[in-house]
Amino acid sequence: MRALTVQPHKRGSLAVEAVPEPEAGADELLVEGVAIGVCGTDKEIVRGDYGWAPPGRDRLILGHESLGRVLEAPARSDLAEGDLVAGVVRRPDPVPCGACAHDEWDMCRNGRYTERGIKELDGYGSERWTVPERYAVRVAAHLGLTGVLIEPTSVVAKAWEQVQRVGERAWFEPRRVLVTGAGPIGLLAAMIGVQRGLDVHVLDRVTDGPKPGLVRDLGATYHHGSVAEVTEHARPDVVLEATGVGSLVFDAMEATRPYGIVCLTGVSSTGRTISLDAGGLNRELVLENDAVIGSVNANLRHYRAAADALAAADPGWLGRLLTRQVPLERAASAFGAAEQDVKVVITLG
Ligand SMILES: [Zn+2]
Ligand SMILES: [Zn+2]
Repeated sequence: MRALTVQPHKRGSLAVEAVPEPEAGADELLVEGVAIGVCGTDKEIVRGDYGWAPPGRDRLILGHESLGRVLEAPARSDLAEGDLVAGVVRRPDPVPCGACAHDEWDMCRNGRYTERGIKELDGYGSERWTVPERYAVRVAAHLGLTGVLIEPTSVVAKAWEQVQRVGERAWFEPRRVLVTGAGPIGLLAAMIGVQRGLDVHVLDRVTDGPKPGLVRDLGATYHHGSVAEVTEHARPDVVLEATGVGSLVFDAMEATRPYGIVCLTGVSSTGRTISLDAGGLNRELVLENDAVIGSVNANLRHYRAAADALAAADPGWLGRLLTRQVPLERAASAFGAAEQDVKVVITLG
């Protein structure tokens, strides 16, 4: 069968190649790959800046944002042939650390976790793949190809859960949320914010392309100025930061109302310096009881929450997030940046 493979840390090594058929173990599903989504992490791997092949091998099958259709399920499985599924990305470390021992491997503390399509485990970018049944999540049939959004949605489902849990350290009744960045993570975070009944504001740089309309059609408000302009009339209770841009991160920390929460989900590159008033920022965080948290990855309950959030969303709106579909044989073109891209998917069928 064909698979999309890469030699991590070797730029220009992306290829579609023939690999052996996978064989499902006793507790595993055999799945026909439908599509994989492409995100910044995949682009980093393809650029040669990130990623690890399985031990003893040079090449890694790429793809961590998965969607497939079950071909064979173990006896007495809740899943059956034809069901749409997504596979979970991370597996616990072998020690395991305290977090992994409690199935909270998204919070792994020793860094020895593995990740499909990223770190030491083959990904989902092949015509067929297997996955342990306990690491597979059912995708509502009506979602079709948009089910490929499960993984990025799981990341924002976790972020929202973390915000909720931090908020509940005292009285918590959020009303207004600011999402910075209208890429897939920002838009899906905004979608869940609207589902939670919040007044959602989304800030991005662009003034054209699909993003402003996608935000408006959620029932949220689109902004393209600065954080200060957005918060001039009303400050948010919660900021979900999805750009990783240093200056925006600090603007976000100053933007919240007292007892505000800023959840950071964007990964910055290191080595960029900005000057800021550290004393002033500390003073504000302390005197306002503000909380700033980082959030990455997702565990099983977040995948399930993501599946529920997508099932409840407008399928037409979700479909508009998939701005480009590229067949496997032309996969290389999926990793270039196109101005109007929201989510690019590589179809495997
Ligand atoms: Zn991703
Ligand atoms: Zn761990």
